[in-house]
Amino acid sequence: MTVKLFWQDAYLKAFDTVVESVGGNRIVLKETAFYPTGGGVMNDTGTLRIKGSEYNVVDVSKEDDAIFHHLAGIPQVDAGDAAHGAIDWSRRYSLMRYHTAIHLMDGIVEKKYRAGGITGGQIFPDRARIDFGLDGLNRELAQKIIDESNEAAQEGHAVSSRMISREEALAMPNLARTEPGRKLIESMPQVRVVEIEGIDVQSDGGLHVANTKEIGRLVLSGFENKGKNSKRIEVKLE
Ligand SMILES: [Zn+2]
Repeated sequence: MTVKLFWQDAYLKAFDTVVESVGGNRIVLKETAFYPTGGGVMNDTGTLRIKGSEYNVVDVSKEDDAIFHHLAGIPQVDAGDAAHGAIDWSRRYSLMRYHTAIHLMDGIVEKKYRAGGITGGQIFPDRARIDFGLDGLNRELAQKIIDESNEAAQEGHAVSSRMISREEALAMPNLARTEPGRKLIESMPQVRVVEIEGIDVQSDGGLHVANTKEIGRLVLSGFENKGKNSKRIEVKLE
């Protein structure tokens, strides 16, 4: 099992650990700050320095409880070697800002417009999209949601994460917004929850900024009506 340093501190940019196993160009570390692709969010990139050589981490993936660092080439390393990891912080920080922005928008829609919330989303380092099932959502209303999100972002709400028990999670009806999310909660002994103070609480394994002010300004960069359950809003951050 890889210890998830990114859950302990989303602002950790570099760390020291040891190699747990190596297979081809993939390395598993005892612990890592590299976030693997998942939950609609892209993976981190960065470098690993082992035995005096520096390797580029081009992809990060998760299988069961292990996190795999995919290197650009085959490394000359062994299990037990000391490793120094450094993540590409500008990419990661963008992903965190976009992720919190998406939760903020989702929270605003849940609070103000009720029913028909999020049906999908994808977060990239330079943009994000969020799909809503909200009836009557058009470009004009999308702009209104963006404006309200900007207002809320500037109010400076604290963002935090914590672990709660499954029982506690099941007692919070709106914790997971999608059916797969609800199924997932039922399968987990502990559920990680991300809260934007006063705006949104949901189960989430992702990484976020500590305060909504860090999001910056949201700009509506696209709107597409893809059908009843999928009205897609695209955002960019300034
Ligand atoms: Zn999320």
